[in-house]
Amino acid sequence: GGSGSASTIKQVKLERESELRIEVGNDAPLRFRLLDGTAEIFGTELPPQIWLNFPPRLKFAVFTWFGATIEMDGGTETDYTADETPMVSYVNVHAILDGRRSRAKASSPDDYESSQGPRVIVVGPTDSGKSTLSRMLLSWAAKQGWKPTFVDLDIGQGSITIPGCIAATPIEMPIDPVEGIPLEMPLVYFYGHATPSNNIELYKVLVKELSGMIERQFTGNAESRASGMVINTMGWIEGVGYDLLLHAIRTFKANVVLVLGQEKLCSMLKDVLKSEPKVDVVKLQRSGGVVSRNAKVRQKARSYRIREYFYGLSNDLSPHSNIANFSDLFVYRVGGGPQAPRSALPIGAEPAADPTRVVPVNINRDLLHLVLAVSFAKEPDEIISSNVAGFVYVTDIDIQRKKITYLAPSSGELPSKYLVMGSLTWLET
Ligand code: ATP
Repeated sequence: GGSGSASTIKQVKLERESELRIEVGNDAPLRFRLLDGTAEIFGTELPPQIWLNFPPRLKFAVFTWFGATIEMDGGTETDYTADETPMVSYVNVHAILDGRRSRAKASSPDDYESSQGPRVIVVGPTDSGKSTLSRMLLSWAAKQGWKPTFVDLDIGQGSITIPGCIAATPIEMPIDPVEGIPLEMPLVYFYGHATPSNNIELYKVLVKELSGMIERQFTGNAESRASGMVINTMGWIEGVGYDLLLHAIRTFKANVVLVLGQEKLCSMLKDVLKSEPKVDVVKLQRSGGVVSRNAKVRQKARSYRIREYFYGLSNDLSPHSNIANFSDLFVYRVGGGPQAPRSALPIGAEPAADPTRVVPVNINRDLLHLVLAVSFAKEPDEIISSNVAGFVYVTDIDIQRKKITYLAPSSGELPSKYLVMGSLTWLET
């Protein structure tokens, strides 16, 4: 920047196969542009010369294969250049997947097996870069013209919709480095809690529902089928977490398992999957750029995600506050367990023991500040097998007038009167 001026502009020159790792500050936004050369953010190429704006707190890397000059303007928490990255090994995986997609496309669509592209699942401990690797593989594939399906099984820090959900969406274009995954028509199943231990059985049932739905979509769509899928998973890899990983691998019939940064998990999976000869288990190095997040940061990130659903990434959406009569809406929860206080149940009812039983819930002040899913179910017993249309946030319960006030993405009637509750709360700030 020019001396004496208030300008914060600086230029960074990146050598080939190196990356600039950035954490945008808490308050100050950051903008930058590619001045020279070529560079990408998690698999998506940067347009030359155009200033891009990055919101506070975003953590990312600008990587260049052949060298680039970047111009930055604004505050960062940290920014540094790294020339040791696992990017070459990641792009090699992409090249292999690409070959498999081409082979799938070239085979007869009537041969359901061989016209099936790779089904990749990314596993590893928390903060190993699973979401980031998934994103790169998807963006590189989309750049090549494929339409891979992104499946996100991470109910804690998912990238498709709000926390507490598992979801899938086709990726038709490289993912926007700022906006993330387009939220147009994702297929979303509501689990309702940020950790699977609340109701493990329900989590498994929903994974099964989601995979069944994708399987049906693949049957009717040769292009999606050849493009295959990339599945992101949770960072819980011990005990029940490990069982859930195996369950996901088998339910989605994954045939490429990418293990990030964990020797032990890799050899365990290799061992147990060797009787399933069509599954490749590949160990990959974790990037040194992945930022670790503690429980508090994760909780905050969940809260921001919910805020983003209603208000948009940069306050560009205007949600509506709606009022309904208690008698207009039907709220359910799934399973027993500690998540619902007894007072939320109809008088005299006992908490259900069956983890997948759908239980009606009395509308009372226990619902305040909960995020509820709006189910596509037409009958209560379809609630588990139905995906959801979206979410509402309960802002007021008026017991005397029997009115419920809720925030929804838009005004007008909800697509269904069946709402599902879990333990997902939000405090608007
Ligand atoms: P989880 O524990 O939630 O499963 P994860 O393994 O999916 O996490 P990511 O979400 O991919 O991890 O990465 C964690 C954070 O680190 C994200 O904010 C991501 O943008 C950031 N990050 C990943 N790789 C890099 C990099 N090379 N440089 C800078 N930041 C990075």
